[in-house]
Order: sequence, then structure tokens, then C-alpha cells
Amino acid sequence: MNIVLLGAPGAGKGTQAALLVEKYNTPHISTGDMLRAAVKEGTELGKKAKTYMDAGDLVPDDVIIGLVTERLQNPDTENGFILDGFPRTSAQAVALDAELSKLERPLDAALLIDVDAEVIVKRLTSRRMCKECGYIGSVADASCPKCGGEMYQRDDDNEATVRNRLDVYEKSTSPLIDYYRGCELLVSIDGDRDPQVVFADVEKALGL
Ligand code: AMP
Repeated sequence: MNIVLLGAPGAGKGTQAALLVEKYNTPHISTGDMLRAAVKEGTELGKKAKTYMDAGDLVPDDVIIGLVTERLQNPDTENGFILDGFPRTSAQAVALDAELSKLERPLDAALLIDVDAEVIVKRLTSRRMCKECGYIGSVADASCPKCGGEMYQRDDDNEATVRNRLDVYEKSTSPLIDYYRGCELLVSIDGDRDPQVVFADVEKALGL
């Protein structure tokens, strides 16, 4: 399966990707995770990206496109991939199409996890992540239910930054919904339900 996950920040793309990886072992390419790892390691990329990320703005297209293009060269993606958080702009979508057509690996679907903006604000401001394994939980998790690691709040999950990320999503990313509808690749799923219920629909939609 070659798929892109679409949806606002906090819609549950990371959670659905984790469930797909657990069951189908498909490589998960999350540009947000790649950037956070670069920030943690203090690389040049990380230093450049951090200012944008902390403000909830998008990292420039050329940086992100280079990162994903390089990642897609890895042979582990030959049997499929789940792109999460990419593409986020029309330029990224066009660059992805060009790269996938060069690799002769067209997309099978663009899966939209659809959740109302106010639900997202509540979800993101109470979201916590595991420092060790990246598990996505909530403020109710004192420690990671998966590995016992320490849970933390992402720097960009405060309310002001969340609202900016939602604005950026509306302006720059939501036009991709029409783009993929036009390519007859769009599948839309109601994401305001229990993650396992959403996952059952994801599997059905992907014919798994
Ligand atoms: P995410 O974990 O997907 O919510 O991404 C966190 C942050 O990383 C975003 O708010 C952006 O600053 C940056 N980022 C992740 N993916 C992209 C992308 N495809 N294009 C531009 N910036 C991105």
C-alpha cells in the first residue's frame, strides 16, 4: 500500500499510522517525527526547522521535499509506505507525484481523517507523547502505557500554536483534499470516534 494520510494536526494520523505499522509492518514516514528527531540531535536541519515548528508554521518546501525524496530512495519503501504529514502544500503534492512516477510507484489512496477544528484544539492541548517510544497519549497518562517512558507535551501543542497550525492547515493543506479528489484517490473517514473504530474503517477503505 502506497498511501498518504491527510487531516488537520491532531486528527489522528499518527495514531492510525501506528496501528497500520503494527498490523501490516508498512514503513511509516512522518515528516514531523523526522524533524523532531533532527531537532533533538541538533543537526543543521533541526536548527533550521525548530523556529518554524515552534511557531506552528510550515518548514520551507525545498527542505521537506528533499527530506522525503531521500527517504523514498530507501529500499524498505519498495513494498509500500505510509506518508504522514506530507504533502502539506500543493508544491509538495506535485513534487511527490513527480518522484513517485519516476520510481514507478503510484499512490493507492489519500486517506483523509476528518475531525472538527474545536475537537482538535481540545485534543492537542491535552495530548502527551512518550519521550522513549513516541506513543501518543493524553494528559491522563502519568507514564507511557506501552513502555513506561516519560510522557511530555510537544512544544507546539500549546493553544496559541495549535490555533496557528489549524490556520496554516486551512490555508495551505486543505486544498489538497480537492487535489486528491480530482485524482480519484481521496477516501474520507470520520476521525471523531474511538481510534479502533476509525481503524476498522481505514482497513475497509484500503481494502485490507
Ligand atoms: P506534525 O508532527 O506533522 O504535526 O508536524 C510538526 C511540525 O513540523 C509542523 O507544524 C511543521 O512546522 C513541520 N512539518 C512537518 N511536516 C511538514 C511538511 N510536510 N511541510 C512543512 N512543514 C512540516
